[in-house]
Amino acid sequence: MTVMNQNVSYAFPPHAVPHLPIRNSSNVFPVHRIYCVGRNYADHAIEMGHDPNREAPFFFQKNPDTLVLSGGVFPYPDKSNDVHHELEMVIALKSGGKDIPIEKALDHVFAYGVGLDMTRRDLQGEAKKAGRPWEIGKAFEFSAPCSELVLASEIGHPAKGAVTLKVNGAVKQKGDLDQLIWKVPEMISYLSGLFELQAGDLIYSGTPAGVGPVVRGDEMLGTVDGIGEIKIKVG
Ligand code: MN
Repeated sequence: MTVMNQNVSYAFPPHAVPHLPIRNSSNVFPVHRIYCVGRNYADHAIEMGHDPNREAPFFFQKNPDTLVLSGGVFPYPDKSNDVHHELEMVIALKSGGKDIPIEKALDHVFAYGVGLDMTRRDLQGEAKKAGRPWEIGKAFEFSAPCSELVLASEIGHPAKGAVTLKVNGAVKQKGDLDQLIWKVPEMISYLSGLFELQAGDLIYSGTPAGVGPVVRGDEMLGTVDGIGEIKIKVG
């Protein structure tokens, strides 16, 4: 925080703060960081029983200026021929901290949304194979479409609800929030052990099965029951 909030004279105008609309509010949500959880949905085996061997969650980040509002266009990115959709519930924090206990974690949640973790799968795959960072596969421009946010004070903290992505009307991804391996309070608590969470942080909570490629002209419609929907066209 030491490099910010000082009285300084900028060499050129600083970038605007990326933000998301909030349903039933004239305020907008100023975005600080975007954290994304790696694979976080139970596969079929896990959903049928308990998994005593769940692995610790892992995280990567996207940049706040990669957000795209629902109703907008996701331009098909350069340098990839295999761009995938990943539909995810998004958690928006109103406060943060370090080492947040699980039982206090939901106190920090401001709102929820519906997001797409758009992924250059071919580039991500090359990075994985080479043991390199994932940014070129994950954190490119327009890679983080997100719906308006819906206040937790209105809808509570959804722990159950269908997560569905349709492309051109055909269902491609189908899951339920109750299949999350790491639940929302656990994700927040774990992440706060690695980073100091702050008001304005977003967490993309992982995607259910059925990820796949999109092509120019596709219309993606994602819904999370109890939260809302996102509509994005591939340009
Ligand atoms: Mn994802």
